[in-house]
Amino acid sequence: MGALSAQTRHILLAGGGHAHAVALRLLSERPPKTPLRLTVVAPDTQNLYSGALPGVIAGHWPVDAISVPLQPLCKAAGARFVQDAVIALDEDKRIARLASGEDIVFDTLSLDIGSGIRQLGIPDPDEIAVPIRPIKTFLSRWQDAIQQMESGAAPPAVVIIGAGLAGIEVCLAIRHRLQTALTKPARVCLIDASDEIAAANHPALRRTLATALTRAGVQVLTGTRLTACENGAAELSSGDRIPVALVVNCAGSAPHPWVSETGLKTERGRVEVDACLRSTSHPHVWAAGDTSYFTPHPLEPAGVFAVRAGPVIAKNIRRLASGEPLTEFHPQSDYLKLVSLGGKRAVAEKYGLTVTGSLVWRLKKSIDFSFLSAHRLTTGD
Ligand SMILES: Cc1cc2nc3c(=O)[nH]c(=O)nc-3n(C[C@H](O)[C@H](O)[C@H](O)COP(=O)(O)OP(=O)(O)OC[C@H]3O[C@@H](n4cnc5c(N)ncnc54)[C@H](O)[C@@H]3O)c2cc1C
Repeated sequence: MGALSAQTRHILLAGGGHAHAVALRLLSERPPKTPLRLTVVAPDTQNLYSGALPGVIAGHWPVDAISVPLQPLCKAAGARFVQDAVIALDEDKRIARLASGEDIVFDTLSLDIGSGIRQLGIPDPDEIAVPIRPIKTFLSRWQDAIQQMESGAAPPAVVIIGAGLAGIEVCLAIRHRLQTALTKPARVCLIDASDEIAAANHPALRRTLATALTRAGVQVLTGTRLTACENGAAELSSGDRIPVALVVNCAGSAPHPWVSETGLKTERGRVEVDACLRSTSHPHVWAAGDTSYFTPHPLEPAGVFAVRAGPVIAKNIRRLASGEPLTEFHPQSDYLKLVSLGGKRAVAEKYGLTVTGSLVWRLKKSIDFSFLSAHRLTTGD
């Protein structure tokens, strides 16, 4: 990059999620021709790659294997890294307020801050329940729970709330880990308020997942709600009470609440964006991944779409720098779903066709780890 002048355009990237990681790597490979100032703000120095999280839970690989260190990516792309979180915006004055109290003035802001998990809204005085996100917090609670179950300090039982694909994957990974880590039998329950598991998915995939859950000995309770976590137990709408070590909340992704408090136009808490990933109300703010609502063609919150938005962000940063019109995002409507089944087996589904087995697990592992190796740069501090 050439010398920067006071007029150099400043692009602030909030969040180091899938989309920004891809964009930073591509910018490092092909920097903008016109100099610009890039700043990345993220609460952690690394982003944990959720696609390979079930493998950490199951004990197939350590947490370090799924981390994407952000500072080397920033250094390679010529971006300044700020460890902090954006907590508010003055979108008209183009100011981002950080948790530390610092303000950052930008010309263009790109949001890739992911999502949280829908809150359970139940009494939980002893904090038995933990959301799957932030992943780092979840993993620390999961480690503690395993130790407590091993030592007998907590009952060998885990309840997972939410039978979507992520909840099922997490549940089967937990089941696998408890089978290998504990000497005594453990109880694993998957609970969902709707009447079927993985309701938004093709029946062929649902059938395979139902079989996998049955084979793993998971107790699936549909049409059931968690009503409280009290006195060391999960209390259910059926009246059942399950003494547990941990309740894992996988009840679906929920946007970060502060986004709705900005002046940006949102749809159910996600920033409405046009085909170029620009806010429909404030085009100098861009959004991608789980935090965005793609108006041309609404997308489910999935890592694949965030990853595919990365090249569009990189290209648009280059185009913005050289004053060219922005390019559009054209995501595919369907994609290959790969769901791991606890042990070293997985199911693949596309257009209603499913394939299950260890080869599919190896394919998923190879896709996940190619992404990780492409984005885990080793230089920089
Ligand atoms: C267990 C599990 C398994 C999954 N498996 C798959 C899968 O196999 N395939 C798939 O397509 N999807 C999968 N998903 C969904 C996938 O995780 C999300 O869709 C994906 O992470 C979204 O990527 P993103 O770029 O929007 O945000 P993320 O990759 O989640 O990153 C968001 C980043 O923003 C940072 N951040 C948060 N708040 C702020 C803030 N205020 N200021 C600055 N930075 C902030 C975070 O620290 C984080 O680094 C899975 C989800 C889970 C829970």
